Amino acid sequence: MSNYDYDLFVIGAGSGGVRASRMAARTGAKVAVAEARHLGGTCVNVGCVPKKLMSYGSHYHEDFADAAGFGWSVGTTSFDWPTLIARKNTEIERLNGIYGKLLNGAGVELMLGRATLVDAHTVAVAGKRHTAKTILVAVGGAPWIPEFPGSEHVINSDQFFFLKQMPRRTLVVGGGYIAVELAGILNGFGSEVTLSYRGELFLRGFDLDIRKHLQSSMQQKGVALKFETNIAEVAPIDSGGYSVTWSNGQCTEHDQVLYATGRRPLIQDLGLENAGVERNESGAIRVDAFSKTTADSVYAIGDVTDRVNLTPVALHEAMCLVQTLFHDNPTKPVYENVASAVFSHPPIGTVGLSESAAVDAGFTIKVYQSEFRPLKHTLSENVERTLMKLIVDKESDRVLGVHMIGPEAGEIIQGFAVAIKCGATKEQFDATIGIHPTSAEEFVTMREPRS
Ligand code: NDP
Repeated sequence: MSNYDYDLFVIGAGSGGVRASRMAARTGAKVAVAEARHLGGTCVNVGCVPKKLMSYGSHYHEDFADAAGFGWSVGTTSFDWPTLIARKNTEIERLNGIYGKLLNGAGVELMLGRATLVDAHTVAVAGKRHTAKTILVAVGGAPWIPEFPGSEHVINSDQFFFLKQMPRRTLVVGGGYIAVELAGILNGFGSEVTLSYRGELFLRGFDLDIRKHLQSSMQQKGVALKFETNIAEVAPIDSGGYSVTWSNGQCTEHDQVLYATGRRPLIQDLGLENAGVERNESGAIRVDAFSKTTADSVYAIGDVTDRVNLTPVALHEAMCLVQTLFHDNPTKPVYENVASAVFSHPPIGTVGLSESAAVDAGFTIKVYQSEFRPLKHTLSENVERTLMKLIVDKESDRVLGVHMIGPEAGEIIQGFAVAIKCGATKEQFDATIGIHPTSAEEFVTMREPRS
């Protein structure tokens, strides 16, 4: 142990910070972590976990309807938003407690309070200074809303999770993961949802056929989609809702306006300049391939570095960092073929290159595509369809991308992500025997390329 108070001082007890603290402490290092808000960070408190719980909840109305096709009479149903929020909050508090126990069990000292950097080896928490050989900044990000007339009246995704009542009519603004997920959840619970996106089609960067399929599925479920639209002003009205003036002069009324227009690193007043930690063009902390900032003793991982902003990626960055710092094994995080899911209704699962990204990367490709009605829907008469797509390199036969929109897409794509990571070829996909009857088997039975 050096002359410092700690070997590692972590700022932020979210997914990345907690993983790095625990794994470092396991090596015998003296570790402290400071957290200003809630243990578990965005994912546990105002992100992945509550979102997924609410997504499960909002699916029930379709299940009730589908059940009739199998002979069930479900009877009258009703939904109570405050019950859902209260039960969700109880579960999140349980998880907060588990995170506390995990840190405690690993011998990590937890400090509740906002930490700031005093210099490249010193952190201040609640007026007290602590020195460390290495400091890790893992403070994450926060929702960002552009400023416009009336922007103070709109809510962000953090506030969405604590709404006292479900808005009867909701306008969701944005075209990323959060906008489509929350629009689907609200629609499922019965809110009259309009989703507005400034571009031509939402989910920029995802495979075009998948995006188009989600567009028609959401419209079928009753979400009003407005693309190439912008909002000029939001103003409260007497009835308690808001009047929204669009840039084309049109006016609409909604009970709640929810902005999901991206997130920004949470670095305000963190004292980065005191430690010589620089930011990049996008305002995130600049790091090298080993997550080291421009100060030799300060590292940063997770959303605050704005690399690939996903919880499992932050965990991976944490594991690599612990290898680098505490196992004498310099390890760079790998960002290739990161699988992800969008918990839209229906959900999307994806790994590897989209059709257009593969072409842009110079590959000559074969595309295999299948669209079908899942077996379950033959009796339920639910009109939702599933789309699956494989992008294959013509020259090497390697599968470059696997994409799906349909029930359990996230669960299905996780397994295929392993195959893609191993460099699987289309021939190996074809040699794999399907599990029947499933939707997933379609990925190993597509024989004729679409193009
Ligand atoms: P994204 O960055 O994914 O999307 C932001 C959206 O807002 C884009 O459609 C963007 O449009 C639009 N936008 C940005 N600025 C403006 C503006 N000034 N006016 C109007 N629209 C604007 O952010 P999210 O908030 O959806 O999600 C944040 C991150 O969280 C994501 O990057 C994702 O990594 C992560 N996340 C992951 C989830 C998952 O894994 N399931 C779930 C939720 C979040 P344009 O496309 O034109 O730039």
